[in-house]
Amino acid sequence: MKKLFFGILLMLGVSMMAFAKPNIVILATGGTIAGEAKSDLATTGYKAGSLGIEVLINAVPELKNIANISGEQVANIDSSNMTDQVWLTLANKVNSLLSSSNVDGIVITHGTDTMEETAYFLNLVVKSNKPVVLTGAMRPATAISADGPKNLYNAVSLAGDKNAKNKGVMVAINDKIYSAREVSKTHTLNVETFKAPNSGEIGYIVDGKVFFNSLSIKAHTKDSPFNVRGLKELPKVDIVYTYSNDGSKAAVEAFLNAGAKGLVVAGSGAGSIHENQKNYLIELLSQKKLVVAKSSRVGSGLVPLSEEEIQQGFISANNLNPQKARVLLMLALTKTSNPKEIQKYFNLY
Ligand code: ASP
Repeated sequence: MKKLFFGILLMLGVSMMAFAKPNIVILATGGTIAGEAKSDLATTGYKAGSLGIEVLINAVPELKNIANISGEQVANIDSSNMTDQVWLTLANKVNSLLSSSNVDGIVITHGTDTMEETAYFLNLVVKSNKPVVLTGAMRPATAISADGPKNLYNAVSLAGDKNAKNKGVMVAINDKIYSAREVSKTHTLNVETFKAPNSGEIGYIVDGKVFFNSLSIKAHTKDSPFNVRGLKELPKVDIVYTYSNDGSKAAVEAFLNAGAKGLVVAGSGAGSIHENQKNYLIELLSQKKLVVAKSSRVGSGLVPLSEEEIQQGFISANNLNPQKARVLLMLALTKTSNPKEIQKYFNLY
């Protein structure tokens, strides 16, 4: 009799756990998803990062059917104004929240302009296998057919999905799921702006149901060596563009004088650098004045290095676009300034 009683209790407990809603924390940082325009027809000229987290959550009452939601405002900015300080605050907050058994996943609302950079940064410094999902919107919250509410609903569905663990930081937008390493904004205004040019999306969300179809094999989160706990700032890394009749030697000089420890070159084609700029970079590399990663302004594809370039000390950014290469180079420089060691990071992450 006693055994039967405990058996029933156990079964009840197990089935309650199976139906228990996940605990999801939404961290808001601003962006168009929190944007307010003067007219409901306006999709430009609005103020991004205007509405608070409560307004975003209240706009989607369906969220409470799929998760226990709590929210926190970390920043309220246009993401084109993103800073290393907000990244460090965000990373530490995510790590501390996810270390609690009361939190199952995190959604971060973010402007779309630099979402790919924040997502990749977190992908390298979050130390948890629980889901972290970034989302945003291309149309302000006040617009007809605003895309924010559906994107938020999808992001919460993904963050609470039991199959979303161990996949690194993800972006859920316009019904698609992308890995943080691969995702990039590709259109200035259209809602179908995010793509993963080297690999494609890793899944879809249909009516709140999550479907995965592929995965990035690059190491992330717990398998990355980078840790920002206790870090007050990140090493300064800047990006220089190469172009016809290149005069960017002056830009390199200015970055160096402003304290840059590393530079990413947005080269042409497979990472070619105009000779005006390249000769100067070779000089700086030989004096160990900074570390230089070659990336490409093309938007997809690998940047190879010649034997000579390896000897000169250049690093290949692999197939990371310049803005993502900058993120990895900053984190790499928290560990070493040896180009060969940094190259290993670019091959792995
Ligand atoms: N400028 C906005 C931002 O990145 C664009 C957006 O969110 O879609 O904050």
